[in-house]
Amino acid sequence: MIDAVAGATTSEGKSGVHDRRDAWSLHVLGTGAASAIDLGSSGAVLERDGEPLLLIDCGPGTLEHYLRAHGALPPAVFITHAHMDHVAGLERLFYAAWFDVARRGRVKLFMHANLVPVLQARVADYPNAVAEGGANFWEGFHLIPLSRGFWLDDLWFDVFATRHHAPGTSFGVALAGCFVWTGDTRPIPEVVAAIAGEHTLIAHDCALHGNPSHTGVDDLEREYSPELRSRMLLYHYGSDAEADALRARGLAVAEPGGRYALHAPLPVRPGAG
Ligand SMILES: [Zn+2]
Ligand SMILES: [Zn+2]
Repeated sequence: MIDAVAGATTSEGKSGVHDRRDAWSLHVLGTGAASAIDLGSSGAVLERDGEPLLLIDCGPGTLEHYLRAHGALPPAVFITHAHMDHVAGLERLFYAAWFDVARRGRVKLFMHANLVPVLQARVADYPNAVAEGGANFWEGFHLIPLSRGFWLDDLWFDVFATRHHAPGTSFGVALAGCFVWTGDTRPIPEVVAAIAGEHTLIAHDCALHGNPSHTGVDDLEREYSPELRSRMLLYHYGSDAEADALRARGLAVAEPGGRYALHAPLPVRPGAG
């Protein structure tokens, strides 16, 4: 079952780096589909002992929500894909980073290499990144293009392709034994089964009704085993009423602003990266 964090949580880390004192959680900032503004843009923060490690996606309002929770810019951001409900906040993040001299060029921005030209066209190419001149958009960040995954804080994060609009343009992220965040996707059961270990929380795109880009509850029930569904936390839905309908089917559904306990990541496997 999926547990919302209430007070202390336990973790089961066995590595020397991330030991039993570490409490891990996924803070889901927003859970809405692109049109469900009131639920917040879908995105989440991986937290260790209440400290933010990685922000996933930066849609409209995400940075403001993040700053209310954490009070400072994120140390690192992973972008799943370039739909505006996931990247529209990047311009605002650029301004915030650029005009904070201590943070300028230090906010790590992880994205699959395929997304770099897309975001160049969609966000970064706007003339005069700042009106005063002297600023290049990407210079606001520490851009880290990737393919299979990335290292952050001595942890290896796996990155995998999802099924969302054009092939090769949308990606999920996972930390072994801890969590999977699918990003926007149709069902990808063979990927999730391979990447989600026994204790892994699987945050999965799901609305009440599917479409050519997103998962619906019928798809979820057809494509995934009951065991995998029991570890899922659904997000990217259309309304509170949809969330209730999903819960009535016995599924766990993320609430905007909800924090969910995670097991500690497994020790990094030899040869990772
Ligand atoms: Zn979306
Ligand atoms: Zn999308």
